Formats: sequence, structure tokens, C-alpha cells
Amino acid sequence: MSAGRALDAVVFDWGGTLTRWHDVDFHAESLALAQAVVDVDHDVSVSQARLHEANQAIWGRSRDRQESATVADLFAEAGLGHDPELLTAYYEFWEPHTLTDPEAGPLFERLHGLGLKVGVLSNTIWPSAWHDGFFRRDGVDHLLDGAVYTSEIPWTKPSPHAFRSAMAAVGADDPARCVYVGDRLFDDVWGAQSAGMRAIHIPLSTIPEDQLGHSEGRPDAVAHRLAEVGDLVEGWL
Ligand SMILES: [Mg+2]
Repeated sequence: MSAGRALDAVVFDWGGTLTRWHDVDFHAESLALAQAVVDVDHDVSVSQARLHEANQAIWGRSRDRQESATVADLFAEAGLGHDPELLTAYYEFWEPHTLTDPEAGPLFERLHGLGLKVGVLSNTIWPSAWHDGFFRRDGVDHLLDGAVYTSEIPWTKPSPHAFRSAMAAVGADDPARCVYVGDRLFDDVWGAQSAGMRAIHIPLSTIPEDQLGHSEGRPDAVAHRLAEVGDLVEGWL
């Protein structure tokens, strides 16, 4: 933290913010997950249905109680054994949806040029190694000062604890000097503002109705593409 600047850090959501929003077929997702089930007598369509239900249950707990979960928790919720080595189909199902927006790298460089730290805070059940790999593949990993994936902490957004973890990861300690950027008005905008941060909304995602929370924040600013975040932040300095 240094005196004379109004801001210290900009922290980004991942899905639908640093990646472009895609509608996902959650039945196809659970079918891919079922490929990792190791129970000897399992029936793929039964496992698929249980995994689909388990997925809804863990994301419901994230929405309603801000409880985080991992891929292992998902299989446990479904009452199924799994082998992490067999998650290839699941990983490959998601991979096309993980591409970093080409505007992210130049934006991160611009923010660094303004003397700001750049971080990520994502609600996710995936291991951090997957996320780190996506950023490395797309050549932006070295531009992040810190990243927090909720699979590795007890809370999810919009819990203020999740936002504080992300601030700590980039070395920031005053939420009033931090900006959060995300595509969801509950998890991201309401959550960041409740934690004392400013929030920029990127309203390009079609959030499924069952993923909407109990509140919606009114964003401090709106960016219609990632690159616009640079102008908005610079205007606040
Ligand atoms: Mg998002």
C-alpha cells in the first residue's frame, strides 16, 4: 500500500469475466463426471443423475450459505466413489469454456503500469492446478499477483471472508482501495460491496435463474467489455 493513490488492487472473477460466457449443458457435464466413477456395479445413467443432483446441491449451498466444495465433495455428495485420474472427460468437457479473454493480458499490464496489483477470486470446485494451467496456457499467469480459488478456502462469494482472502493474496488490506470485477450482481457486485470494495459489473452473462441470490448490488460502474475496466479504474485514481 502506498500513499497518494486511491487504489491498491483490482481483483477479477473468472468465469464470464476473464472468460467469455458460454451456456453449458449440465446434463452433458454430469455424464462426463460419471466417467470417473469407480464403483464396480455403477450404472452410468444412474450415476449421471446422482452427480447432476449433487452438483445442484453443492452450488445451492454455495448460493445460500457460502459453503465451498471440491470435486471430491461432489462425488461424496452423490454417494459415489471416484478416481481423480479418471476426470479426463470432465476436464475435456470444460476446457473449451476456459479460454482467457484476449483483452485480459493487455488489461493486466495496463493495471500494473498504474501501480496496481492484479488478482483473481473464483467460485470453483476445481483444483487450483487446473486454473493455474489455463492461465499458463494462455500466457497470462505471470501477470497475476495472487489468485484464490474457493475449492481451497472454506467460503464462497459473496462471503466477505472470500473477498478478504483474495485481498490478502495480492497483499492488499484496505477494501476501500480495492476494486472487484465480475459478471454476477449477487456473488460479485453485492458481495464485493458488502466487503467494502468497489464493484464493476460486466453484464454479458446469462446467469441461470437457480443461481441468482437473495440480493443484487448496484455496481459502481459497468464495463461492456473487459478492456473498458482499464478506463474506469484509471478514472478512480
Ligand atoms: Mg463469473
